[in-house]
Amino acid sequence: SVPASIASALSAGARRGLLMKGGAVIEAAASVATIAFDKTGTLTMGRPVVAALVPPEAAAELLATAAAVETGSSHPLARAILERAAADRIAVPPATGARAIPGRGATAVVAGAPAFVASPATAEQAGVLGAQDLARAAELETGGSTVVAVYRPDRLIGLIALRDTPRADAAKAIGQLRDMGVGAVMLTGDNPRTAATVAGGLGMDYRAGLMPQDKLTAIRDMDGAAGPVMMVGDGINDAPALKQARVGVAMGSGTDVALETADAAILRDRVTDVPALIALARATMGNIR
Ligand code: ADP
Ligand code: MG
Repeated sequence: SVPASIASALSAGARRGLLMKGGAVIEAAASVATIAFDKTGTLTMGRPVVAALVPPEAAAELLATAAAVETGSSHPLARAILERAAADRIAVPPATGARAIPGRGATAVVAGAPAFVASPATAEQAGVLGAQDLARAAELETGGSTVVAVYRPDRLIGLIALRDTPRADAAKAIGQLRDMGVGAVMLTGDNPRTAATVAGGLGMDYRAGLMPQDKLTAIRDMDGAAGPVMMVGDGINDAPALKQARVGVAMGSGTDVALETADAAILRDRVTDVPALIALARATMGNIR
């Protein structure tokens, strides 16, 4: 019977760490056309590390200023910068009014004057990034790094390149979805060059430079164009997109907010559990029909 098939699919999922909040989730997951994946922490480990300090002569000032500013942020990039400053035994000056600028960076007053850590695009808008600095940032981004500029209102201190590692099974999962006829798109606030390199390595499409609100719009567009969208994300900033999608799936080690908002959760942080969830849902609905 229908309720029995659904109930056994829910418990079969739960045994392998795929938690679904009710039978309606199985029905919706079976008809998904496209899956939108958050990049940082979902397709990647979400543990970036500092890979380059540019120019090297400015390393100490770069790390001291950036670490002071990033005390006001809980972003993975902030954690990476604070960890590197600690590892290099940098004395971090006190900061006041440290705060995040969502989707752009962070700022604080450090040593009596404002300081910023933000995307190269934001630094360019502030007028502190010259053509040569922009070209250097673009080069690092094409190599797959995320680049942040560290600056004062009137001058650039330098650039910090950070690298995050794709999850070991991410490319395999995207391949499995393709074989199942399901589209996969990476949604990220990161810049288009870094996104193209990471998405290209995984064999998937991407939309980059998205502010949190743009992710909602992207999901609505994809839903209208191709059919039901599943969103997979891990962070507090993914909660609105998880809610907007027909099926929101939280990666289990992510934030409680993501878990609360989502329709389903993948407890073991395996990206291949996404195609597994779709396969389970399709098999269950196939039995019923
Ligand atoms: P994602 O979608 O990868 O989580 P976000 O929307 O959080 O990206 O951030 C987009 C971009 O804004 C980052 O790639 C970075 O350039 C910049 N940014 C955001 N927060 C910070 C921060 N705390 N420190 C430095 N840069 C930041
Ligand atoms: Mg994330």
